[in-house]
Amino acid sequence: MTDPVPDVTDVTALAAVPPDLPDPWNTGRRAEIQAEARRFAMEEVLPLANELDPRKEEIPRWFLDRIGEQGYFGITIPAEYGGMGLGVFEYCMIAEELARAWMSVASIIARAQGMGTNIGDAANRERLLRLSARGQWIGAAALSEPDAGSDLANVSTRAVVDGDHLVITGRKRWIGNAKAADFIQLLCRLREPAQGERRSAGLMTVVIEKERDSFPLGLTGRPIDKIGYHGFLTWDLEFDGLRVPAPARLGGGGRSAFAATQAGLNVARVHTAARAVGLARAAVEDCVAYVQERVQFGHPIGDFQAIRFMLATMAARVEQARAFYRQVAHLIDIGQPCEREAAMVKLLATEMAVEVTGEGIQIHGGNGYTTERQVERHWRDARLTTIFEGTSQIQQRIISDRLLPRSPLS
Ligand SMILES: Cc1cc2nc3c(=O)[nH]c(=O)nc-3n(C[C@H](O)[C@H](O)[C@H](O)COP(=O)(O)OP(=O)(O)OC[C@H]3O[C@@H](n4cnc5c(N)ncnc54)[C@H](O)[C@@H]3O)c2cc1C
Repeated sequence: MTDPVPDVTDVTALAAVPPDLPDPWNTGRRAEIQAEARRFAMEEVLPLANELDPRKEEIPRWFLDRIGEQGYFGITIPAEYGGMGLGVFEYCMIAEELARAWMSVASIIARAQGMGTNIGDAANRERLLRLSARGQWIGAAALSEPDAGSDLANVSTRAVVDGDHLVITGRKRWIGNAKAADFIQLLCRLREPAQGERRSAGLMTVVIEKERDSFPLGLTGRPIDKIGYHGFLTWDLEFDGLRVPAPARLGGGGRSAFAATQAGLNVARVHTAARAVGLARAAVEDCVAYVQERVQFGHPIGDFQAIRFMLATMAARVEQARAFYRQVAHLIDIGQPCEREAAMVKLLATEMAVEVTGEGIQIHGGNGYTTERQVERHWRDARLTTIFEGTSQIQQRIISDRLLPRSPLS
């Protein structure tokens, strides 16, 4: 398979292992998967991003179908259910390629991958996994609330049992893809914690099946106007007595629902790191082209050592973050606990992406501060990566809590 757009930062580019050597890491297959994701991103995603993002338009349905045909909604779903049967390593590798073109596309694939399919009996689960694998079942994850962002245990949206239904009341904020989704995976509270229990006790997850492109009776939404990440709308949601069949409940409630949410965040964090690497790489690649084209003082600006060294450091930082996210993805794939490492890579890769894309704007001079070049989109999208999936400060908190105990005074 050919590689239409060489990645200038990728000094450890996956290369097929010679046939006479063992390939325990499946590198040859990974190289093929990467090359195809890169082709798809550069030939199909990038032109669409350049057209739609300036108009703040969402990824159209026909293109979601294209992503589904590529198999990218089911990368981590077993092949027996129609998925690609791959691991978190390949999921992140593909996400990096997609984010290099448009972060929104690298993000929407996270709203499938079997999310929300742990419900009901085996037959129902199998049906939902199959729908998820090809993107016919794309969801929204509703965790955050106006008063529960970093402090997720503070979730106050209530679920009250009424016969064989749950009745949902409360507000959610920042919920991406909520209206276009086929279902909403909702973190809510079944009961208040008893005395001495953790605040997360009494939380549970509910899957709300719904009609695509509408809200059911008892749920209204208002889109939030953002500065980037325009590929899908982000919603403020109000639940006002929405009735959901009780079997929609996931994980039995209580601490386990919160623990399951936290476990899912490890994958989300390494996926975010991979998206950040894709964005930073996009800035480096755009700069490499620009500095050869832009002439000042009779030279392409790429002749100036200040620019060359800046680019060298940017590229090295991208490569460093890539190596780290691949390491953490591998830890997840082999079942190692890695909450600390997932927090570390999320912190470092996303802060790196903000700085590198910002330097990309600097290298573009005045042209970087326009919507005529793509580097501003890379920066706007990178700016979000240090905020969602847990802010940089929350990652620092997770890491420091595993480095040293707090004194009784804190
Ligand atoms: C565009 C966008 C899309 C999103 N998509 C989704 C989605 O699809 N689903 C979903 O559920 N959520 C989503 N979110 C929500 C996102 O996860 C939260 O915004 C994020 O977790 C931060 O919460 P907050 O905005 O309430 O900030 P806050 O928690 O209010 O934080 C404000 C500041 O205080 C700092 N801070 C807070 N607590 C501490 C502490 N203990 N120690 C040190 N510093 C602290 C933070 O780091 C931050 O700098 C999205 C957010 C955005 C902006």
